[in-house]
Amino acid sequence: MLYCKTDEEVEYLRESALLVSRVLAEIAKLVKPGVSTIYLDRIAEEFICDNGAIPSFKGYNGFPATLCTSVNAEVVHGIPSDYQLREGDIISIDCGVILNGWHGDSAYTFGVGEVSEDSKRLLEYTKASLEEGVKMAVAGNRIGDISNAVQLKAESGGFSVVRGLVGHGIGKKLHERPDVPNFGKKGSGQKLKKGIVICIEPMINAGKKETILMRDEWTVKAADGKPSAHYEYTVAVDKDKANVLTTFEYIEEVLYKGN
Ligand code: MG
Ligand code: MG
Repeated sequence: MLYCKTDEEVEYLRESALLVSRVLAEIAKLVKPGVSTIYLDRIAEEFICDNGAIPSFKGYNGFPATLCTSVNAEVVHGIPSDYQLREGDIISIDCGVILNGWHGDSAYTFGVGEVSEDSKRLLEYTKASLEEGVKMAVAGNRIGDISNAVQLKAESGGFSVVRGLVGHGIGKKLHERPDVPNFGKKGSGQKLKKGIVICIEPMINAGKKETILMRDEWTVKAADGKPSAHYEYTVAVDKDKANVLTTFEYIEEVLYKGN
């Protein structure tokens, strides 16, 4: 049995999810050639603390930073460093916050300056695969319906789905049951009920699906060195329509309407 959050608990989770959405929008203002990933991390941590919250990732299993910053072939869990972003890079920024004891978790992949048509297409398909998965986060469906929808969309673009890392339940802990894979069969897995809150987070590779763990023991990278993208929403399962608690609107206001 999966734990279903009450309506009141879902509203707490929404507050956390909206804060993490605003953190990513602050970072969206700064993603430019020449900016270091450690600088982005510092700004995110300050913004979270200024809003009365705590970074979820810092210290989680020993992770050293507030953001995961994963550039180009890095899939997830990249550690912020003095690496300076370059024109044409893509960078996944993943962030979690704890507000009032509840976690919010979201990720967005940004193009740095002008990126190649191939990279743009990878970003479009990865984001679209997330949206397809979200549509299935409705009571009565199963986890595998989400997984299958993500996989079908990503593979329809010729991309591959990372297998070793999956989405997850979220609440007072950052990672709760159930696992939410980005691949799988329709109608398989646990049944979804109103109040189950999950993070759906496709990690999609331009090349092959295989990944390697780097020597820092955190950074996961595409084994073939081709670009990888990652988007994530925190979503509450509801009766007729998924209740997406995070939003990309704040980010996209920055990206498409200027700072
Ligand atoms: Mg995340
Ligand atoms: Mg997550």
